[in-house]
Amino acid sequence: MLQPSEIERVLAVMAHPDDVDFGAAGTVATLTDAGVEVVYCLVTDGQAGGFDHTIPRDEMAAIRRGEQTEAAAKVGVTELHFLGHMDGSVVADLDLRHDISVVIRKVRPQVVITQLPVRNLDSTYGSHPDHIATGEATMAAVYPDARNPFAFPGRPLAELEPWSVDEVWIPFGTDGQGVVDITDQLDRKIEALMCHRSQHPDPAAIEERVRMWWQGIAADHGLPEGSSAEAFRVVDTR
Ligand SMILES: [Zn+2]
Repeated sequence: MLQPSEIERVLAVMAHPDDVDFGAAGTVATLTDAGVEVVYCLVTDGQAGGFDHTIPRDEMAAIRRGEQTEAAAKVGVTELHFLGHMDGSVVADLDLRHDISVVIRKVRPQVVITQLPVRNLDSTYGSHPDHIATGEATMAAVYPDARNPFAFPGRPLAELEPWSVDEVWIPFGTDGQGVVDITDQLDRKIEALMCHRSQHPDPAAIEERVRMWWQGIAADHGLPEGSSAEAFRVVDTR
């Protein structure tokens, strides 16, 4: 796993507002504190999320962009790209690969953080079809599209310089290779998660669950008691 001193820029590509905060906000805070520039790319606006039936769905998109922007600021991220796809309808097609590749070529990251591109039968919620499609389109954008100078002729991608991403980090890895101690960042991760107000009918319950969950990840990987950790599957894409 590349260390912060070896990284200039990181791009997180996620399906919904709040996915990056659940999966990686503590790591993002660690990176930005170390001077790494982190940029977010959100495929959808999360229009199908939440619990409040009185909020019109087109208003939900604006609310969730605002919440994600606020959450990003809590962990040192100020550049966000919203691709504007419809929540619940993400498909890993050529258009999505193109659009993610454009962001990769603009941001030029050494590391991309994205979602698991296959279904995990042990995690029904984690395997939302939008997550799988986002992970698959992002892996295809990392290789071959963003680095292939002949990809998508005549489309906006072809106007930008090719770029090769060195590593992809996939949250909730279990192989023990990409464990990041976020003990000092857990409060900021929770602050970021709390910014997604439209998604939490009971914020206090979420906070308790979040603390236990990330302490559990630390315990699973043998970190000292009281530690919190995020864990990634690290994919070498060089
Ligand atoms: Zn999601």
